[in-house]
Amino acid sequence: MSFARFALSKELIGALEGLGYLEPSPIQDKVIPAALRGESLLVQAPTGSGKTHSFLVPIIARTDLSLPRPQAVIVAPSRELARQTYEFARAFQRYIPTLRIRLFSSESEVSENEEGKSLPPQIIVGTPGRLVDLLVKRDDYPLNNVRTLVLDEADMLFEEGYEEDVVALSERLKAPQALVYSATLKPHLVALLKDDFPGIDFEGSKETTPGGLSHHLVDIKHVGKARALLSFLRARHPYLCLAFASKKETLKPVSDLLRSEGIDYVYFSGSLSERDRKKAIREIRSGRHALVLASDLLARGIDLPFVSDVVSLDVPNEIEFYSHRAGRAARFGEKGDSWAFYNSDSVDEAKRLLDEGMPFDYYVLKGETLQPDDAGLAKKPKGPHKKELPEEEMKEIKIAKALTRKKRVEPMHRKKTQFAIEKVKRKYRRKAIKARIRTELDASYRAKGKKK
Ligand code: AMP
Repeated sequence: MSFARFALSKELIGALEGLGYLEPSPIQDKVIPAALRGESLLVQAPTGSGKTHSFLVPIIARTDLSLPRPQAVIVAPSRELARQTYEFARAFQRYIPTLRIRLFSSESEVSENEEGKSLPPQIIVGTPGRLVDLLVKRDDYPLNNVRTLVLDEADMLFEEGYEEDVVALSERLKAPQALVYSATLKPHLVALLKDDFPGIDFEGSKETTPGGLSHHLVDIKHVGKARALLSFLRARHPYLCLAFASKKETLKPVSDLLRSEGIDYVYFSGSLSERDRKKAIREIRSGRHALVLASDLLARGIDLPFVSDVVSLDVPNEIEFYSHRAGRAARFGEKGDSWAFYNSDSVDEAKRLLDEGMPFDYYVLKGETLQPDDAGLAKKPKGPHKKELPEEEMKEIKIAKALTRKKRVEPMHRKKTQFAIEKVKRKYRRKAIKARIRTELDASYRAKGKKK
């Protein structure tokens, strides 16, 4: 079914077709009708799900083109993301030439902003600081026609300390509709959002990473991360690989070794100047490079061309960081692989991700080959002692084993048994996670209650 099933103008449907968007993605299917009705939503959607258009389409549909006044404000946590959303929105101008859109972030041209002042834009995209300057402090535009406020990557907006700016904007705009997007919905974030934006609904998928993605834990043994990445590249020959590290200090020896081995790569991190960051994004998008070394900044929201592989050079402590990285691959229904390197020092972190329900399988790097590793984390002595499984779970595992037992050994037999056991374990892992979330939620509500 096409976009035609939504109550959109012919012009907008034509624009979507012209831009190559023929079928709505699942998230667009859910969000567009509700957003067209003017509902406020809290949407859990990973990048790559088509989330940007899930708000752009209803916003454009509801824009009164004859009214030269701001009608929607989109807030993004980084310049790169703001620009990307702006470019996505601007693409519609080819089909709807009277649509006026402006980008306000520290990187946007002054002339662009000045031009915006003479005839106000209908859709404003920007970063929190600039938007507060322009819309709250300087009061440059009439804002009483703003109907929609979008917070993109709300988790990052809050983590980066923009909560005050966002609240100031929201209070100034008094938009009747708020569309809040986040790749992950941690209970404390939801509690904060609910507090800041009472009346927002939940919508969207509960998946944190796209479906076509496979997750692997790679035992790199005693080989350093730099060598391990080099061997991985030689074993795998990825089409486009993003290798992430949380610390600059980790990236340095990796980039040194790659350079000395003559391996081509693009480097992206927050320590680059604004110009160099833009240049790096352009280079990545050019499709000329097969490897990007990056900090977690690149893991958020930026739309990159087809990424086949994501490598986490360190296992992130938090599942959110892992999901953001992994979510760079397998966008929009493609297949992709996410590889998290671990060794005996990072067993605890790897186990934590497993406990949170990440469906990893195991590999081991041997020389320059990547081999499946049947034993996986079970062989590692370090890390928390193997917990005694609850009686109930033990019983279910026994049943699963019995049910898959065969008189003769059949092909795939071991795999089938393992799969049945894993299924039981997954059920109990989920139970444990739910219990943890409940505790976290209770705690954050209690903390909020005390503050008041
Ligand atoms: P996002 O989740 O917003 O980061 O978007 C991911 C990518 O999906 C972008 O490159 C969009 O151009 C693309 N996209 C968004 N909606 C559709 C659609 N309905 N059909 C095909 N591609 C889409």
